[in-house]
Amino acid sequence: MIRFEDLLEKVRAYSPDADVELLRRAYVFSAFEHREQLRRSGEPYLIHPLAVADFLADMKLDAVAIAAGLLHDVVEDTLATIERIQELFGPEVAHVVEGVTKISAIPFSSSEERQAENFRKMLLAMVDDIRVILVKLADRLHNMRTLHHLPEERRVKIAQETRDIYAPIANRLGMSRVKNELEELSFRYLEPQAYEALRAAVDAKRRATEGLIEELKNTITAKLKEAQVPVLGIDGRIKRLYSISQKLKRQKIDLGQVYDFIALRIITAGVKDCYAALGIIHQTWSPVPGRIKDFIAMPRPNGYQSLHTSVISEHGMPFELQIRTIEMHRMAEEGIAAHWKYKEGRVGDQRDERYFQWMRQLLEYQQEVRDPAEFIQNLKVELYPEEVYTFTPKGLVKALPRGATPIDFAYSIHTDVGHQCVGARVNGKMVPLRTRLKNGDIVEIVTSAGHKPSRDWLNFVATSRARNKIRHLIHLEEKARAIELGRKVFEKDARRYDVNPKTILEGDAFVKALADFNAQKADDLFASIGYGKMSPKQLLAKLVPSDRLREKPPEGPVTAAVRRVLGAGEEKIKVRGFDDVMVFRARCCNPIRGEKIVGYITRGKGVSVHSVTCPNVVNLLYDPERRIEVEWDKGDAVARYTAKLTMEVEDRKGLLAAVSAKIADINTNIKNIEAHTADDQHARIDMTVEISDLKHLEKVIKSLRGVDGVLDVERAAR
Ligand code: MN
Repeated sequence: MIRFEDLLEKVRAYSPDADVELLRRAYVFSAFEHREQLRRSGEPYLIHPLAVADFLADMKLDAVAIAAGLLHDVVEDTLATIERIQELFGPEVAHVVEGVTKISAIPFSSSEERQAENFRKMLLAMVDDIRVILVKLADRLHNMRTLHHLPEERRVKIAQETRDIYAPIANRLGMSRVKNELEELSFRYLEPQAYEALRAAVDAKRRATEGLIEELKNTITAKLKEAQVPVLGIDGRIKRLYSISQKLKRQKIDLGQVYDFIALRIITAGVKDCYAALGIIHQTWSPVPGRIKDFIAMPRPNGYQSLHTSVISEHGMPFELQIRTIEMHRMAEEGIAAHWKYKEGRVGDQRDERYFQWMRQLLEYQQEVRDPAEFIQNLKVELYPEEVYTFTPKGLVKALPRGATPIDFAYSIHTDVGHQCVGARVNGKMVPLRTRLKNGDIVEIVTSAGHKPSRDWLNFVATSRARNKIRHLIHLEEKARAIELGRKVFEKDARRYDVNPKTILEGDAFVKALADFNAQKADDLFASIGYGKMSPKQLLAKLVPSDRLREKPPEGPVTAAVRRVLGAGEEKIKVRGFDDVMVFRARCCNPIRGEKIVGYITRGKGVSVHSVTCPNVVNLLYDPERRIEVEWDKGDAVARYTAKLTMEVEDRKGLLAAVSAKIADINTNIKNIEAHTADDQHARIDMTVEISDLKHLEKVIKSLRGVDGVLDVERAAR
């Protein structure tokens, strides 16, 4: 069992200024809180936090991390609260302990590969202080070392989680020593028979090869000395059982066929010595083609650097060699942990840029910080700044780009879930669909059969999948509407020339027209008309002899009567003869009964009705081909329109009441009224009124102008 005094000694050795008092208090508190608990082994529970702290001290971490290691289980396993930890040990220690407690509480249930990868990323993304992960890895390592005390079922579960989640995280962080041990231990508990068989077989080989390893080391030492390449050390070892077993599986061979289970490592003083040593090795033994890898020039994504080669010894036995500098070696073994303790005294070294390419931003930040202690304090990991990790209610992880909304989440499940999405619960609460999701959110999508996506969604979705699916469906719907509109406009025009629209769509002329317009069927032509790409007359010209088309239409100019129909709460306008739905008052000018109006076929949204004085019409923003004539339907006198008015008034008491009274006097409904103070003397009143036609509106405006204190009245644009 590790003694606390030994731990202190270890910390003082690399950090003479470490806050020993903090460590002592953390130790006493942990000992007290865990006092009645035992490990499965029957030993006092305290040995576990002590071992975790000791491991963190081996990584030469700061006092905060080690104190957090001592305290990492008190919130989860005792009555102590995080508030108490914060009170006693400060916000940093509390933050790390809380982080460890939180990630330990996330249930991981599937070893399906993509799920595991997302889960790993999510754990890393949720952690804003790398010390949380280091404490968690230390915790997991000690638990794996003592796993034999647990019942088999728990052993397998923990070992599986270690293999799927924690060993890859250690790898990601470049901590190969931790990764290797976690993998070896997982192998032992997950495949006990394979592990034992391999161990026995490798032990037999080990005895046979020990002499060989010594001999190879001696040869290398002598050759490098002769060439005056400075070398700091050479180790030789049998490869790890897990990596041998992976090789057997990968290559589908048995142990008898594995030759290169010896690996040697040369540690040099400098980078050029690595390449010099490689040259000497290749002059001494023949390299195996295709096995030379230069991870110095091209580091692995986790920062790993080394030269690799395999050569064949004079006994005909291949072996592997890794050649690297002492710095690269520390990085390879300890990864991110080596990275910070390594900073001391050499902050801002350009070569550090090469390590951890995925931490580039962090490093840039680090170079601005002169004091390593401050760096560690402020170390916030943004390993995956572009992604958020969310859960389905069943616990599946969904990785989405940052900024993703419940709509994106819905489309990531299934297209239909996206289309039919009407609401979302995040962590049990209903939220607006435009809510940005956060790491760890549990998202439940509420659907309603037959519901259609809204165009508005395009303004806030973050994934191209959602965007494409929404666009596609909107496009289909618009096309259906365009076909319907095109058909009606065409039929109306045809009747104008006294042509039966049904019969002319059957003759040879029609077949030729299809070919001329490069269309497959009548609907394609109607869609073109409905989208305003083609006028009905262009089509008619192909179908009807020109002399007939030149004849004066019997009923005068084409007219359509626009009238408003009151739907359930919604207002719709109708163009007589064209049926409903497809006609709407243009938002830019919002014409009302009595005004002169004109219709335009929009691109897929039906006919928009503008006032002829609308600037968009006056400025010819619309293609004349798409223009259709419309007029108000005279038969519908009771229709009601809303009009917005804005008034400039004197800022005085009672004016709002006077305005309201005046409106009531002339039997007009106010739908909404709001007053805003503009400056010391002036105010603005915005009002929405219900009116029946232009005359009525003019009357309202005139009456309001007559109110004492009203300076000006205007019809608002929208
Ligand atoms: Mn623990």
